[in-house]
Amino acid sequence: PVLSAKVKRATESRKKQRQAEGRLHEAERLARIDPLTQLGNRQLFYERLREESAYARRQQSAFALVVFDLDHFKKLNDAHGHDTGDRALIHFARTLTAAIRQEDSAFRYGGEEFVVLLRGADARSALAMTARLRHALKLTPIDLPDGGTRAVTFSAGIAIAEQANGFLTEGLFTRADEALYRAKAQGRDRDEIAESPA
Ligand code: GH3
Ligand code: MG
Ligand code: MG
Repeated sequence: PVLSAKVKRATESRKKQRQAEGRLHEAERLARIDPLTQLGNRQLFYERLREESAYARRQQSAFALVVFDLDHFKKLNDAHGHDTGDRALIHFARTLTAAIRQEDSAFRYGGEEFVVLLRGADARSALAMTARLRHALKLTPIDLPDGGTRAVTFSAGIAIAEQANGFLTEGLFTRADEALYRAKAQGRDRDEIAESPA
């Protein structure tokens, strides 16, 4: 009976430890998820970016980083309320997720800025993706509290990690962000591709 009590205590304690580990694991996972859109957040993006770069070097295959910023989002909030803004963010996140492939990943970088990693993509296939997304958003405008509807539009900057830059991530986000800035300056609702740094 002494031995059986010991075994029982050991089993109980292992079970408790596994439960605690499970809770910790779940807390760590949730810390990388944006609660509004359920997309990965900025921290998860940077983790995945490093992994994607390592994968690209192993496979000697390019990948695209696309940064999105919703157009005139402040106006939408101001004119139709923060809840409408939030619904627009959720709608954009869902439509974005539907427009990418299984092996790609989408993140909410912050506020109304999103980013995707497109595995194996060059500039042409990244542009095909943004065209698909734009088309889908135009077909599915969101409802406004005043009874009207409004299609969400975005500007995007595209940068490619490729052979010429060693499939490296240094400067990749900055280049995509600079391209995004040009897309905004040129009138919004459009894409710009970053020059290769080489
Ligand atoms: P631009 O076309 O130049 O991008 O104009 P913009 O108004 O979208 O740009 P700006 O960066 O000035 O505004 C971003 C706005 O996004 C401001 C902020 O109130 C709003 N925003 C950021 N996060 C959230 C959020 O979680 N929910 C809502 N509803 N709005 C948000
Ligand atoms: Mg912004
Ligand atoms: Mg914006």
